[in-house]
Amino acid sequence: MASLSLAFGQASHVGLRRADNQDALGIFPGAESAAAGERLFVVADGMGGHLGGREASRLAVETLESTFFAGPDADPVTRLTRAFEAANLRIHACARHEPTLFGMGTTCTALALLEERALIAHIGDSRAYRITRDGIRQLTDDHTRVGDLVRRQLITEEEAARHPNRNILNRAMGVQAEVEVDVIETEPLQPDEAFVLCTDGLASVSPGEIRDIVLSHPPQQACDRLVELANERGGHDNVTVVVIRAADTASDGQPPGSGLRRGWGGLFLLLLLLALAAFLVA
Ligand code: MN
Repeated sequence: MASLSLAFGQASHVGLRRADNQDALGIFPGAESAAAGERLFVVADGMGGHLGGREASRLAVETLESTFFAGPDADPVTRLTRAFEAANLRIHACARHEPTLFGMGTTCTALALLEERALIAHIGDSRAYRITRDGIRQLTDDHTRVGDLVRRQLITEEEAARHPNRNILNRAMGVQAEVEVDVIETEPLQPDEAFVLCTDGLASVSPGEIRDIVLSHPPQQACDRLVELANERGGHDNVTVVVIRAADTASDGQPPGSGLRRGWGGLFLLLLLLALAAFLVA
């Protein structure tokens, strides 16, 4: 991992049919840099009324950040699990004490990148994918009734993506005082591999299309393009995407030499202005 740097992008959009965006995302720490220290990436898709959905996803992201980084001594799997449990409890408590937030909940999918490890924690139907040169793999199970049917091989992934009940969750964060968290360990990224976190607003874009777009664009452009595509296909839901891509430090997602060209462009402009000034004085 040490020779790799991470580049990432993020996008969240209300879509074309909803009045407000109840999705939330977080990247901690926020600035791009060579792989050093721990990073946490989160997407959440809130539900439960106009105020509740927004508040639940926001609380999930906020509580994960404050809890995950608070206990650096504990094993990361334990810290991530505790962070999810803390977020669950906090959302649940707020919903009980504030009538306008009653019944709120959220999906939540997080990726923690550590020195030599990559962990995913997950509740609900937001997804984490891993993209390699060979393909794309969904790392998370959808905690939906339709997801159960897929796992029992009663319907296909394609049928599930169009199923009328595909949005019915059988697990969500904040709805009950206790919740089961899936924690998955996966391999750290190799050069040119990527993780994608997304909410179900991206369901109209197939995994194959996600892979093609992520491999052919820098992360931020990939996020923007994916959101655009979801909106071209109806924009039925809020859509949120985070792309995390590993690059050799030599080619950090920027075309080589682009910084240098910008530098020369500035110098050229300065010389032009000086020449103009000299001409005017003369
Ligand atoms: Mn959604």
